[in-house]
Amino acid sequence: MNSDIVRMIELQRYWDTVLRCREDIEKSAGSIAFWEKRLEENQGRVLALQGTIKLSKSSLRQKEIDLAAIEEKIVKLQTRRDAVKNEREAAAVANEHAAASAERGGMEEEILLLMDDIESKNSLLAEAEKEAADVLEQSTADIAMLEERIERFRKQMDENRAKFDEGLPSLSAAVRAKFQKLTGSGNGKAIVRIDGETCEGCRVQVPVHLAGDVSKADRVMSCSNCGRFIYSG
Ligand SMILES: [Zn+2]
Repeated sequence: MNSDIVRMIELQRYWDTVLRCREDIEKSAGSIAFWEKRLEENQGRVLALQGTIKLSKSSLRQKEIDLAAIEEKIVKLQTRRDAVKNEREAAAVANEHAAASAERGGMEEEILLLMDDIESKNSLLAEAEKEAADVLEQSTADIAMLEERIERFRKQMDENRAKFDEGLPSLSAAVRAKFQKLTGSGNGKAIVRIDGETCEGCRVQVPVHLAGDVSKADRVMSCSNCGRFIYSG
């Protein structure tokens, strides 16, 4: 067989491996990015819940202080009620007492609602923390496996790339530039088998005389449809 064809077939094998490795590396990197996004989302949810619980708790503390103040006011009003001098004063104290009692009722209700709210947020937080821990556990093992895989494929890719680069100068000048151009475009196939009369690169039938020549002539030929180098074998 023509030595250019032999070398091109060999180089194509290295190049196919380079492309396969590259594809696998991209896929693994995509999986790592997916895990990282999930980890970030989970962490974000936990932090957001912690923040809102903190706000609710500080609001609860303030309401409890306000409630204590109103209760103190009510006690004082009760003392004053026992010491009123006339009806007008008695009516005024009674009014104030009624208003303070209503305010206290409202505050107690708000405090209860707030406590319920904190409780339900706490259970959401517990769920979010559990999910975050689960995702962390799953992803740690998976990411380590993916990184090891990337490392392995990168090594294989580099080795094959080096062999490809080393072999390129051995091609004759007549085919080298075109070969390089074809490997760098589309699916990277520069030389393909011809199966009967069908080019395996584009699945189109080449003219019969060309197919005949490929099997007989010991020279480099190209598919009349896609332009790739063809060989029979
Ligand atoms: Zn073709």
